[in-house]
Amino acid sequence: MAAPEIYAVALPTPLRRSFDYLAYDPQDLLSQKPDIPAQVGMRVRVSFRHQVLVGVIIEIKDHSDFEPHQLKAVDKLLDAEPLLDKELLSLCQWAANYYHHPIGEVLAAAIPVALRQGEPAALQQEKAWQLTEQGQDTELESLKRAPKQQQMLAQLRQEIATTGSPRVLNKDLLLTNPNRSALKALSDKKLIEATSIVPDADRTLPILKEAAQTLNPEQQAAFEQIELGHYACHLLYGTTGSGKTEVYLQAIDRVLEQGKQALVLIPEIGLTPQTLGRFQRRFNRPMAVLHSALNDSERKQAWLLASQGRADIIIGTRSAIFTPLKQSGIIILDEEHDTSFKQQDGFRYSARDLATLRSQRLNIPLILGSATPSLESYYNARQGRYKLLPLTQRAGNAKPPAIELIDLKRQSLKEGLSQALIEAMEQHLLASGQVLVFINRRGFAPTLLCHDCGWLSQCPNCDARLTVHQNPSHLHCHHCDYQRPLIHQCPTCNSRELHCVGQGTERTETLLQNRFPDFPVIRVDRDSTRRKNAMQNIVDEVNRGEPCLLVGTQMLAKGHHFPNVTLVAIIDADGGLFSTDFRGAERMGQLMLQVAGRAGRAEKPGKVLIQSHLCDHPLLQTLLRQGYSAFADFLLQERQLSQLPPMRHMALLRAESTRPENALELLQQARTLAQQISPSDNELQYLGPLPAPMEKRNDRFRYQLQLHSGHRGRLHQLLQVLIAQLEQHPLSRRTRWSIDVDPQDMS
Ligand SMILES: [Zn+2]
Ligand SMILES: [Zn+2]
Ligand SMILES: [Zn+2]
Repeated sequence: MAAPEIYAVALPTPLRRSFDYLAYDPQDLLSQKPDIPAQVGMRVRVSFRHQVLVGVIIEIKDHSDFEPHQLKAVDKLLDAEPLLDKELLSLCQWAANYYHHPIGEVLAAAIPVALRQGEPAALQQEKAWQLTEQGQDTELESLKRAPKQQQMLAQLRQEIATTGSPRVLNKDLLLTNPNRSALKALSDKKLIEATSIVPDADRTLPILKEAAQTLNPEQQAAFEQIELGHYACHLLYGTTGSGKTEVYLQAIDRVLEQGKQALVLIPEIGLTPQTLGRFQRRFNRPMAVLHSALNDSERKQAWLLASQGRADIIIGTRSAIFTPLKQSGIIILDEEHDTSFKQQDGFRYSARDLATLRSQRLNIPLILGSATPSLESYYNARQGRYKLLPLTQRAGNAKPPAIELIDLKRQSLKEGLSQALIEAMEQHLLASGQVLVFINRRGFAPTLLCHDCGWLSQCPNCDARLTVHQNPSHLHCHHCDYQRPLIHQCPTCNSRELHCVGQGTERTETLLQNRFPDFPVIRVDRDSTRRKNAMQNIVDEVNRGEPCLLVGTQMLAKGHHFPNVTLVAIIDADGGLFSTDFRGAERMGQLMLQVAGRAGRAEKPGKVLIQSHLCDHPLLQTLLRQGYSAFADFLLQERQLSQLPPMRHMALLRAESTRPENALELLQQARTLAQQISPSDNELQYLGPLPAPMEKRNDRFRYQLQLHSGHRGRLHQLLQVLIAQLEQHPLSRRTRWSIDVDPQDMS
């Protein structure tokens, strides 16, 4: 009898290796050779250190470094076909190597929870609606006392008429018209009835539900550059409102004509239902949506729909880069500069960089879109590695906003606002405009200060100040979530002269409410949008068009359309210019232009006012007088001089411990080891170990070692050996440490 095959299995453990198992136990008569031949990419259930785990076969071999009697047999082969095809599995393996992260955890990030727990890879029926006979005959007019039901019935009929299918998925109806109670009421009246179907792509239907828009010459030129059927990376560099989405839609149309799938990544799906709505209105093809707000079974369903080719358009956030595609045609990554594409903890991958690799391997085009591209992508385009597709004109009649600086030097400020700014707000409100006020700090004030002794409200666990909140009033650490009641007496000198220092969204909200009592003030930050649909309700309210003031953090900068905003005010432009992070200025410029882009998107011309103490700062001047490209060129020169990414490659080794000496020593050891491994690599430079910008957070002391190299391959060879040695080091078990390749956030 032949010896059983051996499977190398990736298991969800923090160990950077796979584990060998026998296909079956030759000694055990009950353990039979599986009927179906195992393949790479199938799941198996195995016992591992007294636990039962589900893993993925990543290699099938006839030899192991262990003796056969040392190996256990798998409990069960869970799939009849590979769950992960070769392409996706090799993408995961590449990512595990590149980010030096355990393959089992990489696969865990790629596979939905339900499938990771061993559920069968089978699609479920989904809830759908169809018209009853009565529902087909009823006049819409008869529902005029129930306008929401009337609207829903009209929408259902419309969908049926355009798609030719008598059943419409519940989720599709709710996507553009989230009104469950209207559906229930229609069903109670026996006008519609619930049914269930397995979604599938009916490719006999016309692709388009609505006609495509006519492209302007720039859009047309960009569109023509995008060739299907082979790899090229395109940087669609278009100012806000220049019609990037229309270019995406028309490129996708061509992909669908070829019977292929489009994968579209966006930074935050919860914030952009309008993107989805737009895709839905355009295309007669099933879509799958993948993001973190889905429950486990919804996520599994969407993943399998993509994998089986039953969904033609897949829209998702960062982790959707790991969606299996049966017939891939294009990958599009919108707002490519957004930092949410980089995971900041655990498996620290960049969905943007993986998108480049994946489209290269699939030999399909990639579009990266942004009004303010990351320096990495902009540099690649400058170097000719990416095709640069500029869109400089705003689509339709919209005019670009006029940007002006307000010099704060020697001005008397009222809660951070200059007189000139308050007057401008008043003018715009009285002219029925809407005003957007950007301030990138939530809470009432960033700190509480004793006027008599200088005491500051310090977090007991972090090197950070406690933020003052009112309503409900409390002190709050935004780094470790520590909270305590607001105090009115200084704990060191008993003085009652405690002052709130600095501005937060709540404080600006209060000021504006007092100054403009006749207009609603709407605050948009993480605190005010915690409830489900809160953001969408705000967007709907603002877009009714009544004059109002919107006060908010960078959440306001992300992709929303506020066509009636005529004035954008940026309270403080100076923060980014002093940042300790070398990307601080880049992020400041991106954020300012993204916020500014909210103004004047419709017929009304917009204005942007920026308050600064540093109006003559060359970076600010370049950005506002010459635009983002000149600003990016300026920053690239600086990065060249200081030998920083994207000119050179970086990896960041972080260590943290309740005992600072442990973390420091581990990094010191790492540096010594690295110098022993690559003694004569003159491309390699070290910085550190240094304290992290916030040295103490959540009662742990944090240190960093930076490794810089002009040679990516050699840096990775070094990291591979270094990490293997560090794992053996006794200190590495007492200290929490991690590696971040191409770090985006240096904190
Ligand atoms: Zn005091
Ligand atoms: Zn808070
Ligand atoms: Zn804290």
